[in-house]
Amino acid sequence: PSSLLEVFLEHARKTPDRLALRFDAKRYTYGELARDVTAFAQALLRRHLKPGERVALYLENSPAFVIAYLGVQYAQGIVVLVNTQYRQVELSHILSDSETRVCITGEAGAAELTPLLGELPALEWLITVEPLTASPPPSRPLLSFDTLLAEPVEERPMSLPGGTDIAVLGYTSGTTGRSKGAMLRQSNLLSNIRAVTQAWRWTEEDRLLLVLPLFHAHGLLVGLHGTLYTGASAELHRRFVAPEVLERLHADTAFTLFFGVPTMYGRLLEESRRTGVRPRPLRLMVSGSAPLSAQLFQEIEAEFGQRILERYGMTETIMNTTNPYEGERRPGTVGMPFPGQEARVVDVRTRKPVPDGEPGEIEVRGPHVFSGYWRREQATEESFDKDGGWFRTGDLGLRDADGYFHITGRARELIISGGFNIYPREVEEVLATHPGVGEVAVLGLPDKDFGEQVIAVVVPAAGQPAPSAQALVDWCKDRLASFKKPRRVEFVDALPRNALGKIQKHVLRERLLSL
Ligand code: ATP
Ligand code: MG
Repeated sequence: PSSLLEVFLEHARKTPDRLALRFDAKRYTYGELARDVTAFAQALLRRHLKPGERVALYLENSPAFVIAYLGVQYAQGIVVLVNTQYRQVELSHILSDSETRVCITGEAGAAELTPLLGELPALEWLITVEPLTASPPPSRPLLSFDTLLAEPVEERPMSLPGGTDIAVLGYTSGTTGRSKGAMLRQSNLLSNIRAVTQAWRWTEEDRLLLVLPLFHAHGLLVGLHGTLYTGASAELHRRFVAPEVLERLHADTAFTLFFGVPTMYGRLLEESRRTGVRPRPLRLMVSGSAPLSAQLFQEIEAEFGQRILERYGMTETIMNTTNPYEGERRPGTVGMPFPGQEARVVDVRTRKPVPDGEPGEIEVRGPHVFSGYWRREQATEESFDKDGGWFRTGDLGLRDADGYFHITGRARELIISGGFNIYPREVEEVLATHPGVGEVAVLGLPDKDFGEQVIAVVVPAAGQPAPSAQALVDWCKDRLASFKKPRRVEFVDALPRNALGKIQKHVLRERLLSL
C-alpha cells in the first residue's frame, strides 16, 4: 500500500462490519465510514477539486472530521490542519500561507472566517458541518457537509494517492514562533504509523479512548492513523474533559489504549484524588507533545498502577523516539528511535555527533521525515544537514549510556549568559520544587553586559504563601551554579499556553520586553 487511506479501504472491504469509531451515541463500522469517505471525495471531485489543492479542516473532533480528512485525500487534495483555538490572526496566516481553496468548518468557525474573506481570495467555498443560524458568510458559496454526503455514491474506479504525494500540511504548534506548514507525504505517514503500531503492539483488538485534538499530529497521525492502520476501534470525544475521561476509563472495560499530553495526566490525577474514581489499568498509556515530569510519572504509577510510556515527536517527523513497550520505561526520558528510524545528538556549533552523555541538538533521519516547509525554502534548507539528510529538530538533549534519549529544552530557548549555556528546563525543575511555586517558565532576555539574563516567570502555588523573589533566587543559589540563578523573578496569574498545553515562551518574552 502507498497510503493509510488505502489500508483503511482494504479493511473496509474485508471487514465492513467491524466497529471503527464511536462518538456519543453514533457508531461507524469500517464499511459505513468508507461509504461516507467515498461520497465526500466524489462530491469534491464533482465540484472540480484538482489534485494537490488545499482543503482546510477547521473543525472540532467529530466523525465529520475523520470523513473529511480521508475524503479530501481520496479526492487527491492536501489536508490543511487548523487548530480550532485559532482566531483571526492565526487563521488568516494559515489559510493565506497555504492558499487554501476550500475550508470545512462549523458554525463558530464560519463566524470567525466571515470577516477574513476579503483577505483570502484563494478561498472559494466553505463547507459547514452544522446549519448556520447566524447569517451565512457573504460572497462565498456555502455547502452543507450533510448534503454532500447524501449525494449518491457512484460505482466507479477512483485513483488512490501515491506515496510521494503530499497528504497533509501540518502547521507546527507555534510554540517558538509563527507556525510553519510541514509537508507530510503519504509515505511519511504510512511508514511512521507502521513503526509506531509495531513498537506499541497495536492490533485490531485494541480500543483507544481518543480525546486529543485531531487537528494535531498526536491525535490524528498517531491516534486515528494507528486505529485505522490496524483495523482497531476508537471512541472519539469532542474534547478532553477530565471527569468524563476518568468516568469512561473507570466504567468501560473495553478500552486498551489512552494517549494524552502531560497536562491531561495532571488533571486526571487531580480529579481522581478529588473523587476517588480510579481508571482501570489499560494495556498502554502514552504521553507526549511536551515533557512529562518524573514526578507526575511516579504519581501516576503509584495511584493508577500504570507506568506511562513517554514518546517524543513533532509535526515535521511525527513520532521520533519511544520508551520500550517491553523493557524499562525510564521516567524523564523519551526512549529510543522507532524501528527503521535514526536519531543522534550533535554539537550545536560544529554539527558533529557528540559522545553519549553529552548535550547537543537532536537530529533525526528516516522515511518518516517530512519533505520540507511549505513555500519556505530557506527554513527548509536551514533545518536539514547538508550531506546526510539529517533533520535538525531544534530540540536539545542527550543520549545516555543505555541509549535512552533525554530532552533538555529547545535550541532556540537556550540561554547564553556571560558565555555560559543555561538550559531553562534545569532551572525550571529546581524552582518547581519550591513549595510556593505552582508553575514556572524560565527564559532569557537581552542584557548589555551578559548577552542574555535569566528571568523566571512564576505562578504562585494555590493555597500557599507567595514566596518573595529573593527567596526563589536563594533557592536556586543553594542548588545550582550561581550563573544559572534568575536575575529577575516576575509573578503572574497564568502562563500563556497553546492548545497542547505547551508554554509559549515567545509570548512571554514579548510581554516582558514590553513592560
Ligand atoms: P513550533 O515548531 O511552531 O515552535 P512546536 O515545536 O511546539 O511549535 P509541535 O510540532 O506540535 O510544535 O511540537 C513538537 C515539539 O514538542 C518537539 O520539537 C518537542 O520540543 C516537544 N515534545 C514532543 N514530545 C515531547 C516529549 N515527550 N518531551 C519533551 N518535549 C516534547
Ligand atoms: Mg517545532
